[in-house]
Amino acid sequence: MNTMEKPMTNGIEKAWLPIQASRSARNTINPIRRIVDRMKINPNPAKEMISLSIGDPTHYGNMLPPLEALEGILQSVQLPTSHGYVPSFGTLDARKAVAQLWSRSNYTLKPENIILTSGCSHALEICIKCLADPGDNILLPRPGFSLYITLCESLDIEIRFYDLIPEENWQINLTHLESLIDDRTRTIIINNPSNPCGAVYSEEHLRNIIHICERHHLPIIADEIYADMVFSNQQFHFLAMLSENVPILSCGGMAKRFICPGWRIGWIVIHDRHNLFKDTVQPGLLDLSSLILGPNSVTQAALPYILSETPDSYFMDILNQLRTNAEYFYNSLVNAPGLQPTMPQGAMYMLIRMNPSDYNDIENDKEFFTKLLCEESISCLPASVFGIDNFIRIVLTTPTEKAEEACHRILEFCRRHAKSIT
Ligand SMILES: *Cc1c(COP(=O)(O)O)cnc(C)c1O
Repeated sequence: MNTMEKPMTNGIEKAWLPIQASRSARNTINPIRRIVDRMKINPNPAKEMISLSIGDPTHYGNMLPPLEALEGILQSVQLPTSHGYVPSFGTLDARKAVAQLWSRSNYTLKPENIILTSGCSHALEICIKCLADPGDNILLPRPGFSLYITLCESLDIEIRFYDLIPEENWQINLTHLESLIDDRTRTIIINNPSNPCGAVYSEEHLRNIIHICERHHLPIIADEIYADMVFSNQQFHFLAMLSENVPILSCGGMAKRFICPGWRIGWIVIHDRHNLFKDTVQPGLLDLSSLILGPNSVTQAALPYILSETPDSYFMDILNQLRTNAEYFYNSLVNAPGLQPTMPQGAMYMLIRMNPSDYNDIENDKEFFTKLLCEESISCLPASVFGIDNFIRIVLTTPTEKAEEACHRILEFCRRHAKSIT
């Protein structure tokens, strides 16, 4: 029986209209979805789909969390004490474990410096929310991780992009960065090692960033989710280890290093040697963490075991796979017409420059992406979603045989579209 024969009314014969979403909801836009979903395209049905675009290392099943992590979860789920509400900023044991993980001989972190969050994304959200009001501005890297933009737009915070220099291993253009600062600038987000660039900053470069922030009395939000994920000839430095005076909120988590993004465990490490956050930002972060009552209790209960028992060989193995893939992609694509890969120094991604003038009929990175998907069933990401044109991003977590097949198809594709040399 149809009860909706005529429009539902409120009794005074006024029809219902769709309920409006709030401004905040309407302002919450993921640039990747905005650009990629608009290009309604289908892969080539004759070819098996290979994704080089999905930033989830578990996608193909070749990379999995450490066995110790699975053991830790199994143990903690059986404890009667793992199922209740815990403090919104995390249990003491879990915070102790994170503090210990990142303490160094000359720098000890305390559990009160740690706030556990639902992934690094949540850590970034509450740091941004805690430092800036609507109308303030925050400096973001370009190209950069698109969540920063989504968060700032959702909160009505003005975004100012500082440029990264492709020819200098994606280091920050420091002059440009400093020129953007004004009296409404509240913080700078620094992502090292970086997504999408795979850049790892040197100690000197990090010190130069700190100097700028010191001159302008600006705190830093360091997105260090790829901490320690650097290839053998590189060294990772926590920004906070180098900073005497600039207070730093370091955001991190398990997602990438422990290959478990779905577990939603992240953290903020508060580095505040001169108590500049102590009575202001620190309690602010604690209050903001209470909005969602923190990450789940079972994973928190397992965290001390996972962080202490996972052997170094696990991380070495993951890094080896990433580096081997990076070298494979680099060596295969360096000779592809119109492509110029840049060898990453860490993280899980490679940016490849594409030169439209080398092709007959590919005008830009978006068209490269569309045609590659249509013709070869390979998805990559046009780097314009990260704010830079004419690059594409590929992920390095793909199994070897998929990487080989993908390179083969990309080469064919580039040759087919290349201008013939006369
Ligand atoms: C993946 C990623 C994150 C998000 O991590 P979650 O813990 O899954 O929320 C944050 N920053 C960067 C740069 C990332 O690549």
